[in-house]
Order: sequence, then C-alpha cells, then structure tokens
Amino acid sequence: MLQSPCVPASGPTATSAFMSLSVFYLTLTGPSKKLVEKLKQQQFMALLAGHIRFALDVKDKYGVTELHKYISGAVYPDSRYVTGTERSLTHPDNIDLTFFSKDDFRKGWLTHVICDELQLQIITKMFPEEILEHGYGGQGSDFWINLTAIKIIQDLDDLTKFEIKKYIDYLDYVESPGPNGEDVTVITKYNEIFTNMYHEPERVDVNSAIDMWIALGLSKDLAEKVRWKTEQYAKNPSIVQRAHGVYDQIILKFNN
Ligand SMILES: [Zn+2]
Repeated sequence: MLQSPCVPASGPTATSAFMSLSVFYLTLTGPSKKLVEKLKQQQFMALLAGHIRFALDVKDKYGVTELHKYISGAVYPDSRYVTGTERSLTHPDNIDLTFFSKDDFRKGWLTHVICDELQLQIITKMFPEEILEHGYGGQGSDFWINLTAIKIIQDLDDLTKFEIKKYIDYLDYVESPGPNGEDVTVITKYNEIFTNMYHEPERVDVNSAIDMWIALGLSKDLAEKVRWKTEQYAKNPSIVQRAHGVYDQIILKFNN
C-alpha cells in the first residue's frame, strides 16, 4: 500500500511541502546515507515531545484543519513497539504522497517519518564519537544506548519549548480501524502512556523517560543502562549543548 513511488500531493498547500520531502530523500548522500539506511532497520525512536513539537512547527505547510487527528497521526508510527506492526509499514521508505496527503491523520504520520529521518542524520553527524565509539549495533548495544540517551536529553529540552499541555489531549483521538489493522485498544493504551506522561510536563524528567521505555516493553536492565548513560551525558556540557541544538538543525534541514 505504501510502496508506490512518490507522486505529487493533490492539494495546493500540501504539494510544496510534500515535494520538499521527496527532495530530501534524494539528497541523502555519502556514508551518512549508508548508516541511515542501516539504522532505519532498527528500533530507534525519538521520544514524542519532539515529534509533537515538529508537527506543530510544520503544520502550516500541510493545510491542517483537524489538529487532533494530525497530532495523533504524528505519534502513531511508534505504536509499533506495542502493536508489533512491521517498521516498514509505519515508517515506510517509499513515501506515497497521495496516501499521506489524504487526511490530517496521515499528514501527521508523515511528519513523524520525516522527523525520524532528519533526527537520525543530524545526530549521527553531531555525535560521531558518542554514538559510533563502540561501532554500530542494534537495540541493547552501546551504540543504541548512547543514541537513546542523546534523544532523551533532546526530548526533555523539546518539552520546554512549547505548551505541550495544550495538545496532549488530542491523543484521545485514535484512528479506527488501526491504519495497519492494529487493535485500536492497544493503540489507545499506547497514546495514554504519553497523555499521562506529558500532562504535567514540569514533572517529566529522565525517570519519566525510563518509565516510558519500560511501558513500551524495554527490559528493566536495559532501561537502567539507558538511565545511567543519560545521567552521565547530562553532566557533560558539550553533549547537552549539542543535544539541545538537534531540533533547530532538524527544522533547518526541513526548510532547505
Ligand atoms: Zn518513529
């Protein structure tokens, strides 16, 4: 369903933004492209404040009218952690622009896929030592732990940059039936993890991020390793400064 080649979106407001996405895919070059391709097969998620922030920042390019559907779409792809849906179905490589411009839920979903792509590219460039020091590895590897720790530091910063409380109840909306045939009650529970977590944003910290990972099925042992690494990184001003700069780079790259 999502494997057809890129075609222009039909709506006038959507067209330019969707086209810029296809240009973005074409501009991945060099070793970074190889690494990104490899990483995309793995389980790497951005936390969700960053995804909601990004969706809101780019929404005018997509002609969004139903914000609740759009925001719900922006968090939908990572529900695969609890539904078990194939990553290729929630984070397709080949973007069918007709499909993704069809409604506001799908437009939000598309922003998630774009944000993941840009974030991965930017972090691998900005943190060559931290995430590549042990060589590439999948979930549970030092590589994965370090990458996740950087994303947590970024997301805790993203959270402070907009009023997430104004938008978090939009996650009450769940697409039914599930976009890939998922059990709607499972997606509802997934959304509730974030509604509960972000309802009091001032209380969200590293512990909340770790609890979220455990709720998504990560083992406690691995979650503790992520916590330890995040706390170590949080003491390093160079890492914190760079992690807090990732979002601006994402926006910059999106707009170019
Ligand atoms: Zn994702």
